[in-house]
Amino acid sequence: MKSVYIEEQGDVNVLTYGDLPDPIVKSNEVKIKVKACSINRLDLFARAGEKGVRLNLKTPHVLGGDVAGDVIECGDMVTDFFVGDRVVVNPHISCQKCKNCKLGAEELCLQSNFLGMTSNGGYAEYTTVPFYNVVHIPDSISYIEAAAVPTVFIPCWNMLFRKAKLQPNEKVLVVSASSGIGTAAIQLAKNISGVDIVATTSNLYKAQLIKEMGVNDVLLHTDENLNKKLMEITNNEGFNVVIDHVGLESWLYGIQTLAKGGRYCVCGVTSGHKVNLHLGSLFKNSQTVFGVFMGNMADLHNVINLISHKKTLPIIADTIPLKEVRRAHKMLEEKNVVGKLVITF
Ligand SMILES: [Zn+2]
Repeated sequence: MKSVYIEEQGDVNVLTYGDLPDPIVKSNEVKIKVKACSINRLDLFARAGEKGVRLNLKTPHVLGGDVAGDVIECGDMVTDFFVGDRVVVNPHISCQKCKNCKLGAEELCLQSNFLGMTSNGGYAEYTTVPFYNVVHIPDSISYIEAAAVPTVFIPCWNMLFRKAKLQPNEKVLVVSASSGIGTAAIQLAKNISGVDIVATTSNLYKAQLIKEMGVNDVLLHTDENLNKKLMEITNNEGFNVVIDHVGLESWLYGIQTLAKGGRYCVCGVTSGHKVNLHLGSLFKNSQTVFGVFMGNMADLHNVINLISHKKTLPIIADTIPLKEVRRAHKMLEEKNVVGKLVITF
């Protein structure tokens, strides 16, 4: 099969376009003909060997977790899926055997895998995944739209609605909002809860695009008076919910502008993972700081259902042919992308 694989970690030149053997389907797996695979920052870290992402590179490794495509083969134990089904994958693959999985908390699986990290993923014509990590997609959702969903919309749904329990009259701060996570958080918070959203970003071009998504105010995170302006926007009450996938850089202003009873949601630490937390302020203001890693299958079902009814739509920055994955990684490294880059086949 045609694929883009790596045999060592490094710069974009380690991404190699070529042929690999087709994957063989196991009894609990479906084999998917990949139609679209979106690119995540995690792919860049894995390719480069940064941020502690280590890969087993004994054989050529195929990145890519956010896969949409057609089922072309089913293992003996597969139920609910048939050849020809259009599907999207939750790349955080649970074991279905550990105590957390048995309690229904698959997102807390003690032996989880991640498609494209611990197994070969979607930068290829075919991939295989356990059937219980796959969701049907209706004809009203394109493969490109579906592939733009999992790694950004699953944690955003989890953070906003299951963990933070966002309420309609609340205010949300989305930091570094041009990213896949940022745009997904904006879409969900705006379209589902109708809340006021304030966003931060790095330049005026991105700020304009973010504003067009219905965000009330967009500020540059380089603004010298950022904290003051953020507090003024909220009548000095602060934000009820902060969505942070950046870590250190945004923590410095995010935690200081968190409201009483506020919930600070962390799902990434690309700018640094060590921060100072004033525990006195935390308990006196009844605040919560929590992290999420992805979410569960119900989260993915919920998002796919919303998109099928056009209640929210993923923001697609661009589509890139498989052969040109190097270019896509460069674009993401240069941080001039608003929304998702999706590989097409
Ligand atoms: Zn498990």
